[in-house]
Amino acid sequence: MDDTIPKLRKLLKGEIRTDLAARQAVSRDASVYELVPEVVISPADSVDIEKLVKYVAKNKTAYPKLSITPRSAGTCMSGGSIGTSIVLDMTTHFGNIGSLKGTILNTQPGVYMRDIDPLLTSNHLHLGCVPASRAINTIGGMVGNNSGGERSLQYGNTERWVRELKVVFGDGNEYVVKPLSRKQLAQKLKETTYEADLYRRTYELIENNYDLVKNARPHVNKNSMGYNLWSVWDRDTGIFDMTRLISGSQGTLGIITDVTIEAVPKAPHSGLLLVYLPSIKNLGDIIATVMHHEPATFEGFDNITFNLGLRYFNTFRKQLGTKEWLRQQSILLKSVAKFKGHIPSMFLMIEFDGQTQGEVLDKISILHDDLKSFNLKMDIEADEASSAPFWRIRRAALSLLQNQVHGRYASPFIDDMAVPPRYLPEFVPQLRKVIRKYKLPATIQGHFGDGNFHVIPLMDISRAKDQAKLEPVMRELIPIVLKYGGTMAGEHNDGMVRGPWLPAVFGQDMYEIFKETKEIFDPQYIFNPHKKTDASWEYSMSHIRSQNDNGLVKK
Ligand SMILES: Cc1cc2nc3c(=O)[nH]c(=O)nc-3n(C[C@H](O)[C@H](O)[C@H](O)COP(=O)(O)OP(=O)(O)OC[C@H]3O[C@@H](n4cnc5c(N)ncnc54)[C@H](O)[C@@H]3O)c2cc1C
Repeated sequence: MDDTIPKLRKLLKGEIRTDLAARQAVSRDASVYELVPEVVISPADSVDIEKLVKYVAKNKTAYPKLSITPRSAGTCMSGGSIGTSIVLDMTTHFGNIGSLKGTILNTQPGVYMRDIDPLLTSNHLHLGCVPASRAINTIGGMVGNNSGGERSLQYGNTERWVRELKVVFGDGNEYVVKPLSRKQLAQKLKETTYEADLYRRTYELIENNYDLVKNARPHVNKNSMGYNLWSVWDRDTGIFDMTRLISGSQGTLGIITDVTIEAVPKAPHSGLLLVYLPSIKNLGDIIATVMHHEPATFEGFDNITFNLGLRYFNTFRKQLGTKEWLRQQSILLKSVAKFKGHIPSMFLMIEFDGQTQGEVLDKISILHDDLKSFNLKMDIEADEASSAPFWRIRRAALSLLQNQVHGRYASPFIDDMAVPPRYLPEFVPQLRKVIRKYKLPATIQGHFGDGNFHVIPLMDISRAKDQAKLEPVMRELIPIVLKYGGTMAGEHNDGMVRGPWLPAVFGQDMYEIFKETKEIFDPQYIFNPHKKTDASWEYSMSHIRSQNDNGLVKK
């Protein structure tokens, strides 16, 4: 690397930092891993990225360890945004919002969602796929991970809303990637360019394995495991959409430099039914009952999260302003008083949308009546103002867990399983059995309407005893999830934690197709090594973070 840095300084306009502080600042994301890079580069523009990719491709043989890991806000929970060679910081110079035309938003990938939200809200819009980390993540990271969130129940994950991307591929050139019609595809396949070759080989790979690829799609509303090949080519519609493949590829196929994404209209009214469960014994049946009512969102969090929310509610004061913070805190304290010392085991948040307040209340009261047979305490929060503190806790749930709890820390590795909700009455008891067997003090929260569970054990991940639990727990849970057609990652992607399990989840034949996809786009393995198909359990386990504190880099 020694002579590389001076050469890169001559080549690029953006900042190049090799000091330890800069490298350590990007050595973690919100996963259990840590990789310290050799250099952090903040490209000034797409031309810098093109030059860098060309440089790395040319020098890869002489310096086999050279690679590029794109990183946006670094909130990835699977170890996707860390690397040992070049970390490409996309937040410094790729932070401009382009335009909003109707519902179509064009933006650079390093823009924080918190900066996009006000623009969308003022136009009565929102992104259907926005994650709970919306206060700290970026749009490029959402595309990179194929993120989802509370609205994914209606709108699915990010891949469904991406309309066009600009991507720097392995030849070091930036290309526009957008859906092609059958005719446009045929035209593209006739060309003799590098780009056409990517299209031809991807098309042939899918077409030659059409049934295998289509059948490999997990039977859930949201998935971010593997490469989304099943969504790229459809013989019936004749649409070939490579944006689907780049979405969720975690920077392993190329670097995204521009994002065009569709937003959705925000319903004028919404209201919440809060349901308090004394235990999670009947959780599966309750979720199945709620799902018959087709709510707009259906989320949940456990008592550990609620207690953390109460304890750290003061941290929201700056964001909310004192007046609003006091108002929300008083709603929460009233709830606590009602529990008379018996904090529920699980809080369910079931939201309905409508054109009028009356329509929303009607929907809520029909569900309320239906749930009476479970003998549960419930509250109706008829408008957004009264439900706000619960949303705040739910959206901050994973951040709250980044705080130390009894000397242990959030250790995400089984953090994102999803199964079709109709199987939850069978699935939840089996999940609980594994959690008990391995004595995992796990917190549970998630997007229950999607059957998407964030099970986050609180562990001392630096101890060998706790580390030894990871592999057997994965081995026990994967067959249970697969039995119901589910996925180990609804939205948090593979990275270093689930990449090694791709053959176990998709089977060896499909894994080979994923690997071939990687090699079509990145035969030299210059993009984000040790993630997805290039991951190995040994490598990942040998890079578990050493210091036992939370992994999230504070922004
Ligand atoms: C508190 C908390 C709550 C969360 N809640 C959710 C949730 O509800 N739903 C959800 O889906 N996720 C959630 N996450 C995970 C994470 O926040 C999301 O995946 C988020 O969208 C990642 O955005 P980021 O900007 O931090 O991306 P990063 O972590 O920087 O990157 C994510 C991946 O995308 C790749 N990437 C980044 N930029 C580019 C680029 N320009 N080109 C190519 N590849 C790129 C990276 O290499 C990496 O593999 C949560 C995380 C935390 C810590």
